Amino acid sequence: AAEAGRDFIRDIVQADLDSKRHNVIVTRFPPEPNGYLHIGHAKSIALNFGIAQEFAGRCHLRFDDTNPTKEEQEYIDSIQADVHWLGYDWGTDLFYASDYFERLYDWAEGLIKADHAYVDDQSQEEIRVKRGTLTEPGKNSPFRERTAEENLDLFRRMKAGEFPNGARVLRAKIDMASGNINLRDPVLYRILHADHPRTGTKWSIYPSYDYAHGQSDAIEGITHSICTLEFEDHRPLYEWLLDKLPVPSKPRQYEFARLNLTYTLLSKRVLTQLVRDGHVSGWDDPRMPTIAGLKRRGVPPAAVREFVKRIGVAKANSVVDVGMLEFCIREHLNKTSQRRMAVLRPLKVVIENYPEGQTEELEAVNHPDDPAAGSRKISFGRELYIEQDDFMENPPKKFFRLSPGTEVRLRYAYFIKCREAIKNAAGEVVELRCTYDPATKGGNAPDGRKVKATMHWLSAAQSVPAEIRVYNQLFANPSPSAANFAADLNPQSLEILPDARVEPAVAADNSNEVIQFERQGYFVRDKDSAPGKPVFNRTIGLRDTFAK
Ligand code: ATP
Ligand code: MG
Ligand code: MG
Repeated sequence: AAEAGRDFIRDIVQADLDSKRHNVIVTRFPPEPNGYLHIGHAKSIALNFGIAQEFAGRCHLRFDDTNPTKEEQEYIDSIQADVHWLGYDWGTDLFYASDYFERLYDWAEGLIKADHAYVDDQSQEEIRVKRGTLTEPGKNSPFRERTAEENLDLFRRMKAGEFPNGARVLRAKIDMASGNINLRDPVLYRILHADHPRTGTKWSIYPSYDYAHGQSDAIEGITHSICTLEFEDHRPLYEWLLDKLPVPSKPRQYEFARLNLTYTLLSKRVLTQLVRDGHVSGWDDPRMPTIAGLKRRGVPPAAVREFVKRIGVAKANSVVDVGMLEFCIREHLNKTSQRRMAVLRPLKVVIENYPEGQTEELEAVNHPDDPAAGSRKISFGRELYIEQDDFMENPPKKFFRLSPGTEVRLRYAYFIKCREAIKNAAGEVVELRCTYDPATKGGNAPDGRKVKATMHWLSAAQSVPAEIRVYNQLFANPSPSAANFAADLNPQSLEILPDARVEPAVAADNSNEVIQFERQGYFVRDKDSAPGKPVFNRTIGLRDTFAK
């Protein structure tokens, strides 16, 4: 536990070990397989798996698969891949709430026999209305006083599939006047004729979250059941059920603040809709806050872990600036990424005094702070590309890059001076005629003259075409509306640069290493790359340019 950050949950865990309340800590991460994991889940994963690591305990991965209409094998698979990608491992502790369906059912019969549960024939709507409000107590169901025999018979017939969806539910019999609405006879089972990814059509009834969750914790011997604050009001019900049922252990529930991020919506409902409605290319679209999206975007898992550590674990909800995540990504990549050159929007340069047909190899360092990263050769020739916006024909005062008559340094190469800008019929600059000074090879002038700008460039012949995808925030609104998210989408969230140029070695490299294109940011090869046509995603720019 030495280097890990401390928080109120870790303090509780430490106290429980010190007092010998527990000898081994067991936590769990319990996703419902109804979508891909997002960065909010990463917070919960790092907390649960992190505690298990730090206190030499275990963390279970448990699929909370109690709602078959929304759950799919694709999600089960992606969740496992994403937890591994984040750097965590459940070992052999992989569980499914559906494995407990039989036991949960038997326990429900026990509740009925003890007069702690009854079958209610009211409609969902009637149940909702009669549940009351914070200021108004609920009203008892007319079916609340059924005998145990009658309840048992109806419940067994619900299980046998005799009734249509929604016809009846099993409810706990607690207190319709409770100040806590969760204790006003909550639903334990509902009828659902649906195909479950693991149990097929075996079941026609499915347990509610509240009924399945705590009992799954107890069956697995979870010591600390950590969930987000929305479940604080469910804790009395969690405890009521543990108290009434013959469970093998009594876990305790603790709540922490969920992660909220500016410019981001972390709700599976919204993320599912973004995918379904085609606002993004899929769950792994690099603009998505999903783990799969972050991965495809080139975000290193260590940066996500660092981010989660920095934000900490608190008891009050707050919104974290997405700039904090971006900072962690940049900080990590600055250390680990090799430097290369790419020209995103090429403008042709002809060096008029450089001999036609000649080329030469220049030395370029791979990482300015890490000599061990070595160097590489880059080709210089008569025809080059520079970035379009590194040239201005009529520059304002503070523009120090290339313009007619000014001299600049081409990184690792020579000083060049612009003599003339050639335009097309539309008046756009399409080519620059320049001269170079052979005495400035390597980037310094023997006569000591200075230039105010150093620019990246590529040889026209010795560079390769590439498509570069530049991403901005998916939402233009710092606090997008979950209800009406489409209105808050950023129309400029994806910019495609189809005519970029990259160093040949970069194009040939099939690894998924993130590289820094000098002066442009961090980039990673995308899975859409084809032979001869690599595609790169911009992971992140070099500095925080996003308007806040
Ligand atoms: P959503 O509300 O988007 O549907 P969920 O909470 O239902 O997500 P689950 O699959 O049930 O998703 O979540 C698994 C675990 O991840 C839960 O313990 C949940 O509390 C936690 N979790 C979900 N979202 C966040 C978040 N934004 N921050 C921290 N933990 C989260
Ligand atoms: Mg959920
Ligand atoms: Mg939820």
